[in-house]
Amino acid sequence: MTAISIRALRKTYQNGLEALKGIDLEVEAGDFFALLGPNGAGKSTTIGILSSLVNKTSGQVSIFGHDLDRDKEAAKRCIGLVPQEVNFNQFEKVMSIVVNQAGYYGIRRQEATRRAEECLRQLSLWDKRDTVSRNLSGGMKRRLMIARALVHTPKLLILDEPTAGVDLEIRRSMWEFLRKINKEGTTIILTTHYLEEAENLCRHIAIINHGRIVEHSRMDDLLARL
Ligand code: ADP
Ligand code: ADP
Repeated sequence: MTAISIRALRKTYQNGLEALKGIDLEVEAGDFFALLGPNGAGKSTTIGILSSLVNKTSGQVSIFGHDLDRDKEAAKRCIGLVPQEVNFNQFEKVMSIVVNQAGYYGIRRQEATRRAEECLRQLSLWDKRDTVSRNLSGGMKRRLMIARALVHTPKLLILDEPTAGVDLEIRRSMWEFLRKINKEGTTIILTTHYLEEAENLCRHIAIINHGRIVEHSRMDDLLARL
């Protein structure tokens, strides 16, 4: 099954900047996929379009068979997004951040509470459920972002520069967690500008530069050629 299919995708921002100049990309279900590229290459724009936060200019995108133009709500439900910057309400408690996120997907309160507990336990945050989120450590905030993204059991988890500015110990424990949920069946796409991160985690890689895909291959094939 195809998790993501992107055809001739273009994005020109209102100021005329062409961030994506015709991208084609396929990601298989179950894959662990890296989108690698320097700052300004178009990584955030691409995942913004995948998660319906940014409108595309032209091209076709489908997510687990749901076309973004015809079936946006179904496409959105397939995706959990972990943005680069902490963007939850810093004055809200941990548990309510995750429960409320479930509410956005129309999950009923009782089920939302059950799912939130499961996600918080998985990310070792259950003890912190009543903590106001601004009092969490940096590593805990990152884990909360992941817990929140998983509450509606998405088939695809997208992480934007997941370990930017994160120390080695936290990075390693995040890697371990991502490997585990990928093994359990969640498709994962991450953006990074570190080849090392991609190399450690991902089976396939696409390299994007100036709004174009310049390389798309298996990670081991790419490494063999370097
Ligand atoms: P869209 O086409 O998706 O509606 P816009 O072109 O309206 O996006 O851009 C959203 C806002 O971000 C605008 O106010 C734009 O000026 C601003 N912006 C401009 N350049 C950048 C940039 N390099 N990075 C982030 N935001 C930018
Ligand atoms: P990356 O995530 O690889 O760093 P982005 O997708 O954020 O790249 O940006 C791609 C290009 O689009 C950059 O030149 C960036 O400045 C520009 N850009 C991003 N957001 C906006 C926006 N809202 N308005 C105008 N230009 C933008």
